[in-house]
Amino acid sequence: MHPLLELERGTFRKKWKGRQPVALLYPNTYPLAVSNLGYQLVYKLLNSLDHIVCERFVYPQNHEAFRSLESERTLSDFSLVFGSVSFEQDFPRLCAMLVAGGVEPYADRRGNEVRAGSPLVVFGGVGVFMNPEPLAEFADIMVIGEAEAVLPALLKQLLQPGSRQEVLQKIGSTLAGCYIPGGYTFSYRDDGRVNSISVMAGLPERVRKVVQGHQEVAAHSEILSPEAELGMYMTELGRGCSRGCRFCAAGFIYRPPRLWGGDAVIAGLKERPAGIDRVGLLGMEMSESSTLDRIAVYLQENDCSLSFSSLRADRITDQLLTLLAKSKLKSVAIAPDGCSQRLRRVINKGLAEKDLIDAAVALVGAGIYTLKLYVMIGLPTETVQDLDELISLLHRIREEILPLGQARGRVCEIVLSVNSFVPKPWTPFQYLSFGGQERERAENDLDCSGAVQSLRYKIKYLKKKLQKIDNLHVKVDRPDKVLSQAVFSRADRRIAPVLLDIGTGKRSFKQAMKAHDLRSWEYAVRPRAQDEIFCWQVVDHGIKEGHLHQELEKAVAAKATSPCDTTICRRCGVCDEDTTP
Ligand code: SF4
Repeated sequence: MHPLLELERGTFRKKWKGRQPVALLYPNTYPLAVSNLGYQLVYKLLNSLDHIVCERFVYPQNHEAFRSLESERTLSDFSLVFGSVSFEQDFPRLCAMLVAGGVEPYADRRGNEVRAGSPLVVFGGVGVFMNPEPLAEFADIMVIGEAEAVLPALLKQLLQPGSRQEVLQKIGSTLAGCYIPGGYTFSYRDDGRVNSISVMAGLPERVRKVVQGHQEVAAHSEILSPEAELGMYMTELGRGCSRGCRFCAAGFIYRPPRLWGGDAVIAGLKERPAGIDRVGLLGMEMSESSTLDRIAVYLQENDCSLSFSSLRADRITDQLLTLLAKSKLKSVAIAPDGCSQRLRRVINKGLAEKDLIDAAVALVGAGIYTLKLYVMIGLPTETVQDLDELISLLHRIREEILPLGQARGRVCEIVLSVNSFVPKPWTPFQYLSFGGQERERAENDLDCSGAVQSLRYKIKYLKKKLQKIDNLHVKVDRPDKVLSQAVFSRADRRIAPVLLDIGTGKRSFKQAMKAHDLRSWEYAVRPRAQDEIFCWQVVDHGIKEGHLHQELEKAVAAKATSPCDTTICRRCGVCDEDTTP
């Protein structure tokens, strides 16, 4: 057993005899793995079946041996390997973990016989159902949807005897939410556009996403560790988001948005082990104030402190502020996302300047010492005037909160986080160019230098103008580095050797793209046509054809779209059909 597990709660230690071993990979370090609720859920779900023993593999640090955490076995001891991935930056590590474990990374080169050392490889997680294609060459099966909704039926089939091809054909042709990438062949045009997708007989043209319906007990932390990045007991308030921010993939690919009732959330909170009183809530952005207030009362009655990474600026109630003050939380982030009120209409954020100032004042009044603000640059139609509006907003916030800090003897710091916007599949901004350049410039920016320079210029401008504001710290990213994320986000399966080269340390991103004759421009900067086929459309999220482009048109006109109301709204098409199992 790995020493990290000595302090962990929720570990399964099962004997192997008579059980099917399943390896569960997380392509990042232990502190991040143990903070990921989805990864924990799969671990619990698999181990709650008596005939399965599931052991975790995390990305090794400091030249550690690559072995399972529970029994320190090697990956080649497993005939079933699951991998969960949430972020594009983790793609190279996921395929490198197969190599490090002695498993052939390319699915079509694994033999027809399934056995330890030549396992069936199943990938899932939000990174997969947003766009499975970048990792498609490495997986036998990809889970399109939420684990609780897909895994029970999938596991039954995976444990049936049969050759690799037989098992895959059966699963792909009969099970909802299971994509067999080897059964789909893509052809491409010279500019990188998908030309056609041909599908093996018996498999669906598109794989429909499957989601979890009602929850009696809200999903919550199954594993707790002092090493966790988020050192608290997490509970979900719901899944997805009803706000429809046009840049945000989670708001579209988790549709329909589902809010768990107050009873389910409190039932989830009650599952926490004795002595655990620091809790975090996921999904605060969309939760109703009345539900939050009810939960706040429960937490106060049970002497729990509340922690959250981000809060929607127009959802801060007195009840929540009281709990916040009692929780002695020192730092809270609010996300204007867009630099100006006009841009916040473009992205459908629906937050006015007054909301942001009021939120800042309320939070500092409740005892916050660090106020984090998160904005993106490179959004469509963004100009220097939008940046200037952000600068004046920061001045105003500082003016308002300064006396509050002075009165209590400690001034509140503002941390502004400036992030280059990455267009994501399945959002209205999937058609747009990384870097935020106008269409014509982006079409000719074949080496992506214009995109990177445009973002760098905006960062420099903001830093220069903001350096005179006391107690304000500006954190920025590196647009040249974010370019690789923008490539992976909308990449197709031709990117596979690039991911493998980067993951195994053979080449840098730039070298690998060149070696495999791929251009970043095709994926990251090329503006997309309204009628083109996207590789991620092999997944069917139930969103009506044309809806995302209509939303893009509304964005350009800075027109708002109201939040989801699943009882009456049929706007995007997702609520027309039941996608629960
Ligand atoms: S149909 Fe309406 S409520 Fe349902 S997911 Fe789409 S926009 Fe939201």
